[in-house]
Amino acid sequence: MLDLYGVTMTEPCTHARQATIRKVPRPAAGCEDCMKIGAPWVHLRECLTCGHVGCCDSSPNRHATAHYRHTRHPIVSSAEPGETWCWCYVDERVLG
Ligand SMILES: [Zn+2]
Ligand SMILES: [Zn+2]
Ligand SMILES: [Zn+2]
Repeated sequence: MLDLYGVTMTEPCTHARQATIRKVPRPAAGCEDCMKIGAPWVHLRECLTCGHVGCCDSSPNRHATAHYRHTRHPIVSSAEPGETWCWCYVDERVLG
């Protein structure tokens, strides 16, 4: 069992158990990379390794996925208000 953002995970993946995974400050102001270039975003995802905030795959620039490709930080959490789920890029599944 693992507790992240009030979600008690009955099936956390091996990546969620790593010591580098931590709670990051929320809510986020916006996608850091979109704000730099003045681009719009749809939803926000927050990296649980370094706290990077990026936009989801429905957004034009998909910065959350780009961040994973660059850093291999495995897990993001939805940074949308009221949403608490996490996604592992390595296992390609929602953690719950
Ligand atoms: Zn995983
Ligand atoms: Zn973005
Ligand atoms: Zn990261």
